[in-house]
Amino acid sequence: MKINLHNHTHYSDGAFSPEELIKFAIESGFTHIGITDHYTAKIPGSNSVMSYGLEKYIEDLRALSAKYSPYISVLLGLEIIFSILQTDFSSFNLPFPDRNLLNKLDFVLFEYVQDSSFMGLSLEELVKIRPFLNMPIGLAHADFSRNFSDIPPKELANTLAKNKIFVELCPSTRNSRVLAVGYAKYMNFFSFLKPPVQYVDAGTYVPYYRVENSYNKALYKAFKNSGVLFSIGTDTHEFKEEFLSVYDSEFFLAEKNITERLICYHYWLKN
Ligand SMILES: [Zn+2]
Repeated sequence: MKINLHNHTHYSDGAFSPEELIKFAIESGFTHIGITDHYTAKIPGSNSVMSYGLEKYIEDLRALSAKYSPYISVLLGLEIIFSILQTDFSSFNLPFPDRNLLNKLDFVLFEYVQDSSFMGLSLEELVKIRPFLNMPIGLAHADFSRNFSDIPPKELANTLAKNKIFVELCPSTRNSRVLAVGYAKYMNFFSFLKPPVQYVDAGTYVPYYRVENSYNKALYKAFKNSGVLFSIGTDTHEFKEEFLSVYDSEFFLAEKNITERLICYHYWLKN
């Protein structure tokens, strides 16, 4: 199994069409690809699924999924900024699942949950709308030790497992931390990346899930015990190298002995 469930395309701010990415994924030996365009534009005036039309987006992707189904599982996703400043949640008809277009998607990513620098709403708020969504939902590139440390690790793990909220491991530099000292051993992980750049000044990009602190140590142990599921997604925008850079997340799951927790084994296993 080889998966990448976080990719942007022409429907929002990605450089490629969904079909280009799907073909590239097939050539590169992937079993699953998720298209997760932004529902609302991060930069006013740029493309978004909302401006294109969620219904039409779903229709287009469904057709591509059918066309390429002999070769790869194309999953219909969406990335929603979890902030009332940028997303109008009333447009989803959330208390009425049957009228809610979101429920035609295979999965939904929520970004900036609990991230105060983006005015992100809390996990508690996400749990409140969870019952109205029928599909797996996940936290996109959540830097837990930075934004969730007010929640004890075991409580966080149990809340996610109970509410069927999966955790995305996103190795891309755009969501990494830049650490100056003591992380030289991780430099090799990024040697396959050309652009974007590998090093900033004296610092090194380190995926947020690899930041070694007591919170993360306790958290990934609690994740293991609680049955939380994981996704891998690179938040691809403009480089095909980004799309391929799933290795570190794969290594991480293998190191933790939780590869079988990959969400695709649980929801979209190909016969
Ligand atoms: Zn994204």
